[in-house]
Amino acid sequence: MEVFECRGCGNALTAPLSRVPYPAYAGLHYGNGYPMPVLMESGTYAVEEHPAWAARSIVIAPGDAYGTALVQRRENGACCGIDGRNGPNVTCAGCGRKVATRVDACSLWQATWLEPEAVRPATAGPARPVADWAALTRWWCAAELRDSGGRWAPRWEAELAVTLAHLVAAADGAPVTVPDGPLADAFRGPLADAFRAPCDRMLPPGYAAGRPARRAALAGPGLALPGPLPDIAVVPRHPQTGEPWPTPAGVAAAPLAVGYWTHLAHHGRHLAAPVTGRLPAQAERDDPLPPYAWCGVEPMWRAYQVTLEGLLGAGAGAGAP
Ligand SMILES: [Zn+2]
Repeated sequence: MEVFECRGCGNALTAPLSRVPYPAYAGLHYGNGYPMPVLMESGTYAVEEHPAWAARSIVIAPGDAYGTALVQRRENGACCGIDGRNGPNVTCAGCGRKVATRVDACSLWQATWLEPEAVRPATAGPARPVADWAALTRWWCAAELRDSGGRWAPRWEAELAVTLAHLVAAADGAPVTVPDGPLADAFRGPLADAFRAPCDRMLPPGYAAGRPARRAALAGPGLALPGPLPDIAVVPRHPQTGEPWPTPAGVAAAPLAVGYWTHLAHHGRHLAAPVTGRLPAQAERDDPLPPYAWCGVEPMWRAYQVTLEGLLGAGAGAGAP
């Protein structure tokens, strides 16, 4: 694990953090005026390998920043909070050097972006053990994809878009079919939207609707691939290493965030929460009830495009807006 220190005075500026893969949607806007959740899990940080905005390439959860102070100033143009448009707005409490940019305006992921030129990593103990798949799927088995109001959470609409791009890229210019079931419930509509003509979204070069479709299926821990083998397997992505669940030769992997994957794989097996009180001790029920879905899922299309560009190579796609 690492602690980030101030280059000016050596002050520790963060809790001990473990590096995890950089979320493809980290710097992207979501919706219009939507109050956003924290991007990074507490205790983690991510580094953009090829930052478009060089000053902002190390991202942490705001609550993991220590020994810092927020610059109190008026940020013109940000309606619900600070969006960092005026540059670094967090200083080192030890020496006053500007060390980070706190972002908390609507439609932007809650995050603190460290200034690479103002901080340095220092080793702070051994790396966190890598969780095994059984522990991960157990942790995520009761994951809900919607918020308490029944609306799809931004995290999952972003992750859906990332996996959608992997599916489209893996199909290599052909349509994609998915079997009836939870995978179809999640991806059939977004796939149709991605391939719909006239298309204002990015598609792989050479895409032709008339080509033989590639078959996709869900696979991962405790869920073997069906036979005959599909062309593409939607498999969980490890949140610490970024590695997808391994697929056999000839089957391309379309990695999906493990929380979303577990939700699909445990479809129809929602775990009930035990309760106490006037109900019999052996009784179980959901409390609160699972959120009622009042609107459909809308993939975060910008995340789809950014991911597909990365998979295909910048500028290689057709139909880009
Ligand atoms: Zn300092």
